[in-house]
Amino acid sequence: MSSSIAQSLKQYFGFSQFRDGQEDVVARILSRQNLLAVMPTGAGKSLCYQLPAMLLDGRTIVVSPLIALMNDQVAYLQSLNLPAEKIHSHADYNDNADVWRRFVSGEVKILYISPERLMTERMLAALEHVPVELFVIDEAHCISKWGAAFRPEYDQLSGLQNRFPNAVLTAFTATADKATRQDIVDKLTGNRAHIIVKGFDRPNLSLAVALKDAWKQRLLAFVEARKGLSGIVYTLSRRETETVAAFLSDNGHKSVAYHAGQEAHQRQQGQDRFMTEDGVVMVATIAFGMGIDKPDIRYVVHTNIPGSVEAFYQEIGRAGRDGLPADTLLIYGLDDLVKRRRMIADGDGDEAHKLRENKRLDSLLAYCEASACRKKALLAYFDESQPDCGNCDNCLNPPEMVDGTREAQILLATILGTGEYFGAVHVVSVVRGQSSDKIAQRRHDELASYGQGADQSVEFWQALIRQLLAAGKIYVDLERYGALRLTPEGQQILNGDIGFFCKKIVPRPSSQKTASARAVVTFEDPVDQQLLARLKTLRLDLAREKNAPAYVIFSDRVLMEMVAQKPQNAAELLALNGVGPQKLEQYGALFLAAIEKPV
Ligand code: ADP
Ligand code: ZN
Repeated sequence: MSSSIAQSLKQYFGFSQFRDGQEDVVARILSRQNLLAVMPTGAGKSLCYQLPAMLLDGRTIVVSPLIALMNDQVAYLQSLNLPAEKIHSHADYNDNADVWRRFVSGEVKILYISPERLMTERMLAALEHVPVELFVIDEAHCISKWGAAFRPEYDQLSGLQNRFPNAVLTAFTATADKATRQDIVDKLTGNRAHIIVKGFDRPNLSLAVALKDAWKQRLLAFVEARKGLSGIVYTLSRRETETVAAFLSDNGHKSVAYHAGQEAHQRQQGQDRFMTEDGVVMVATIAFGMGIDKPDIRYVVHTNIPGSVEAFYQEIGRAGRDGLPADTLLIYGLDDLVKRRRMIADGDGDEAHKLRENKRLDSLLAYCEASACRKKALLAYFDESQPDCGNCDNCLNPPEMVDGTREAQILLATILGTGEYFGAVHVVSVVRGQSSDKIAQRRHDELASYGQGADQSVEFWQALIRQLLAAGKIYVDLERYGALRLTPEGQQILNGDIGFFCKKIVPRPSSQKTASARAVVTFEDPVDQQLLARLKTLRLDLAREKNAPAYVIFSDRVLMEMVAQKPQNAAELLALNGVGPQKLEQYGALFLAAIEKPV
C-alpha cells in the first residue's frame, strides 16, 4: 500500500492496515472513478469513502436513508475529530442552517443527508456553488426496483449525474444480485461506473439451524451459553417480541423488545440500552437492524424462517462486524413456511413478483434442509464457491444419509390417496394409523397406506415432509389452504422410477454443538479476564459521559489488543491497530493507567 495512504489511515482512523478490498476502493475514488462497491456487512464500507473524503480537496456528500445511521456515523467521525456533520429533518432549523454555513465555508468536509433533502431544487441549486467532489450513495440497493427494498425517494438520485458532471459518483451496498447491480450503475451513472464485488463470505460467522420443537428451551440454552454478550433475536410478530423478551428476562437475561408498534421514545430507549450496555439481548422484528452498526454483536437468532436468503444474510450479517467469532441460529418449522407463503400470496405485487418471492423462499428452505456445509449452500446462492467451512452444524456434525425411498413412498401415497387436499397434520395422522372424526368421515382408514408408518413418530414424518419439500418432491398449495401436493418428481418416487436419499432422521436432532458457546470472546487467564472487564467498565463510563455507544470509544477488538499487548506507554498504545492520534490524546492516559494498575 502506498505509504502516504497508509499514514492517513493511521492518522485519521487509527488503523494499521486496510481490510480486504478497502484499499482498492479508496485508490479508485482518489483517481476519480465512479464505482459501485458491493461488500458484505462488516467489511468496512464506510471507511472506503470516509478516507478519500478526508484526502480530497473538495467536499463529500453522503446520502443515507436513515437518521439513526447518519447520527451514528457522524458521532463516530466526530469522536475521531473528523469534520463531519449531518442535515436531516429531526435536527432543528438553526442547527441545520449552521451546519450548512460550515459546509459551504469548508470547515465541514463530509455532509450526511437524506435523499429527499438532497434532491430538492433549492438544495441542488445551492450545491452548485460548493465544490462537491464526491457523492456517496449508501444502502444503494434502495435505488433499484429489482431489489427487495426499493425506496421511491432514491429514484430521484439518477438526476445527480447531469447536475454534477464533474463529481465522482459512488454507491455502496451489502446486498445486490447481478440484475440489481447493473440497475444501480445504470440509474446512477448511466452505466459509467466500475463495479467491485467483494466476496460474500464472512468466515467469522458460524451457522446452525434447529427445528422448532421446544424452541423456547433451545433459544434459552443458546442465550444462556452466551450470557454477557450482545445478541439479537429476530421474531416474526410484534407480540412475539414482547413474549420472548419477557421469557428471557424471567430467566435472568437482560433483554429488550423492539418493534414498529412501540412509541418512538420507547424504541429509542431500548436501542440505547442495547448499544451502550454489555450483554443485552435485543428481541426485535426486522424493523430493527438497518442502520445499527454496533460491531460487537456476538449472535443473531431467528425464531422464524426469514423471507429470503438475502434478508437472512443481511440480518445475520449484523453479527461480528468486528471480525471476531459470532454465532447464528435459525429456528424453523413447517408452519412458518406456510405462513411465509401466505404472506407472499397476500402481499402486493404481480404474479411474476410473487413467483420470484416464492423462489427466494425455496432457496432459504434448501439452506435449512441442507445436508452438507451450510456456508457452501449460502454462498452458492450468491454465485460463490468455497470449500467446506468446518464451522457450521453440518460440518461439525455431518448428518448421515440414508435411503428413505420406502418411507417417502408411504407419505406420497397418502398425500395422493387423500386427494392432495390436506396439510401435514392430517397426512401424518393417516400415515400413523390414528383415528379421528376426519379420518372416519373421509374413510381415509381404508387407504392402503393407512397405518403403514405407525412405527415412526410424528416428528419423524414431519421431518421427512420438510426434506421432501426442500428437495422439491412435494409443494404447498395455498389455493388449497396449504395442502401438500406432489411435483412430477414426487410422482416418479411414488412410481419407483427414482429413489429418495435423505438425511437420517434421529429422534431429536442434536443441538449440543449449536448451543455450545463458540463466540465467547475472552481470555484463559483470569488476570487477563479481569483486566478486560476493567477496561470495559472504563469504556462504559466514558461512553455514558459522552452519551455515545461504547464502541465509539474503542471497539472490543481494541480492548482485547490492549489486554494481549499490555502497552506501557503512549507509543506502544499508538502502535495498536485501532488506536490513532485522536484516541490516544483523548483516552490514552486513562487506559494506560487502567492497564498498569496492579490487580
Ligand atoms: P459495513 O458498513 O461494511 O457494514 P462498517 O463500515 O460499519 O462496515 O465497519 C465495520 C467495523 O469495522 C467498524 O467498527 C469499523 O470501525 C471497522 N473497520 C473498518 N475498517 C477497518 C480497518 N481497516 N481495520 C480495522 N477495523 C476496521
Ligand atoms: Zn460448513
